[in-house]
Amino acid sequence: MSATRVSDEVLDYDEVLARFDPVLGLEVHVELSTRTKMFCGCGTEFGAEPNTQVCPVCLGLPGALPVVNAAAVESAVRIGLALHCDITPWGRFARKNYFYPDMPKNFQTSQYDEPIATNGYLDVQLDDGTTYRVAIERAHMEEDTGKSLHVGGATGRIHGADYSLVDYNRAGIPLIEIVTKPLAGTGERAPEVARAYVSALRDLLRALEVSDVRMEQGSLRCDANVSLRPKASDPLAQESVPLGTRTETKNVNSLRSVERAVRYEMTRQGARLTAGEKVVQETRHWHEDSGLTTSGRIKSDAEDYRYFPEPDLVPVAPDAAWVEQLRGTLPEPPDQRRRRLQQDWGFTDLEMRDLVNASATELVEATVAEGAAPSAARKWWTGELARRANSDGVELTELAITPRQIAELAALVDAGRINDTIARQVLDGVLAGEGSPEDVVTVRGLEVVSDDSALGAAIDRAIEANPDVAQKVRDGKVAAAGALIGAVMKEMRGQADAGRVRELVLERLT
Ligand code: ADP
Ligand code: MG
Ligand code: ZN
Repeated sequence: MSATRVSDEVLDYDEVLARFDPVLGLEVHVELSTRTKMFCGCGTEFGAEPNTQVCPVCLGLPGALPVVNAAAVESAVRIGLALHCDITPWGRFARKNYFYPDMPKNFQTSQYDEPIATNGYLDVQLDDGTTYRVAIERAHMEEDTGKSLHVGGATGRIHGADYSLVDYNRAGIPLIEIVTKPLAGTGERAPEVARAYVSALRDLLRALEVSDVRMEQGSLRCDANVSLRPKASDPLAQESVPLGTRTETKNVNSLRSVERAVRYEMTRQGARLTAGEKVVQETRHWHEDSGLTTSGRIKSDAEDYRYFPEPDLVPVAPDAAWVEQLRGTLPEPPDQRRRRLQQDWGFTDLEMRDLVNASATELVEATVAEGAAPSAARKWWTGELARRANSDGVELTELAITPRQIAELAALVDAGRINDTIARQVLDGVLAGEGSPEDVVTVRGLEVVSDDSALGAAIDRAIEANPDVAQKVRDGKVAAAGALIGAVMKEMRGQADAGRVRELVLERLT
């Protein structure tokens, strides 16, 4: 986009809420983590060399015949069941015809009016502890497109690029699109509901083990539809006010962006409507840096994709017994599991929320299973380790450290062999591949000094260097001892047992 982009007028958020009632519609695309693609045997590994995971089927070569991936159907049914949907006993795929260079068949194989799952819901927890029930319209199976890379321009968009490259590795990766009904009644919490829903859905999909749900890699993508309608003077009459015109902000790829994009669209549409203008039904692009959306393409409801049933594929007909069998494989719902773990671990709501936000629940669970106290496990994963993962731009699970090693670290602290300051150096060593915490302590010589004679000499020197402080302690001001303890810890470069130092200082002076 050019630097001269004119940003739209926005209306103050509270003003928007005073005049309008927001309505949301969320479309989430999930890439399934099946070993092979939706209609062929090609691999699905992320980040492979361009165009190395392709074949005549996913390249759309003439005469190639697709076959439905049974594992993808199984995942789709399990997702539908976990979202409390009805599973369609018989449904056909359809061709959605349009041209796009990264879609070699010139149609996308999708489910149109016969989606595999319909009419469900997902309950999401909001920050104030209340629950909002998100009504699900449908979940359907489709395939991903390839990926275009526009080279040479400043923005990575086609506009201004010298040339474009196409990678078909992603073409044909199984996708499930989960679409909500229009969600009303959220009021000021609309942006929060949008974020909380995507977050809860991500947790659910992760628990189902059907996708790696990594928004930053595009395996979970959200399109956020937003509209405003006039606020009814009588709240009970709000439901009968017709819906306003929606915009669809595409590919919002982080939870925080979902929240920001919805909020921004509310203020932008609010300004237009207040000025007597109309909201244009269109797709919009989200700009992470500026926090704005800009106009994409005009989109009517009746876009002509010339859908027709896919003649090369048999209908999907999950039989009732199989569906019931799959129902038996559903995991404990994430919110229920969270409540159970919170109770077991004795965490406050805030502590639990931090843990969930850091995506550290499983890691803490595994660390506790290795013998660590829950509070210690939580402290390391959501504190020091979350900070490091964040600064390295990786997931917690990608750090070169295991729950067992954290449990070992916590045990060393518990035994008084190291303190928290030293433990951070031990983490450095483990993350640098120097072995287990025990190895690092030994090799780096990090064990704390609790040997009284070694400490005694340092304490004597501290007292000698700070006679005034020492006198205060002798006069009964025990709090003054802190300065002496600090001096000793400094001399020992943190490698002393602070509790023992304190005892020895007070023994000498009182
Ligand atoms: P599209 O083909 O435009 O993506 P979909 O039916 O797949 O249409 O998705 C549209 C989404 O927008 C759904 O979640 C739907 O519930 C929601 N929606 C429909 N009308 C409105 C509206 N007026 N305001 C907000 N959301 C809406
Ligand atoms: Mg859609
Ligand atoms: Zn293929």
